[in-house]
Amino acid sequence: MVELGTTHCGPCPSCRYEAGQRVVNGRLRWDENEYCAATGIEACGGGWGPPPPWVRERIVAEEGTVRLPVGGPGGLRLKAVRELYGLTLPELIEAREHGIEATPVEARLLRNLSQ
Ligand SMILES: [Zn+2]
Repeated sequence: MVELGTTHCGPCPSCRYEAGQRVVNGRLRWDENEYCAATGIEACGGGWGPPPPWVRERIVAEEGTVRLPVGGPGGLRLKAVRELYGLTLPELIEAREHGIEATPVEARLLRNLSQ
């Protein structure tokens, strides 16, 4: 995967970058797109599951996160959280104690999976 922003001499005023998440057929999907009108360089990427850190940063910067309780009555199902984020057992225990920070799209999906 090419790290975006390094395809030419750094982001310039013509560079446009978009990152987003959505749910497709019940699965989490992320996409990113970079286009520079000055150099004509275009790059895009995407994948299933949680986005890589630099994409997630952009999404969080734009949409923020919500803290959701994990486990127990009214909380997200442990299985749904573990599968979506690929958590290890210690991470899952941590999530159960403190909740998780989810993007709005992740939150919607996790709530659906926890009903
Ligand atoms: Zn540029």
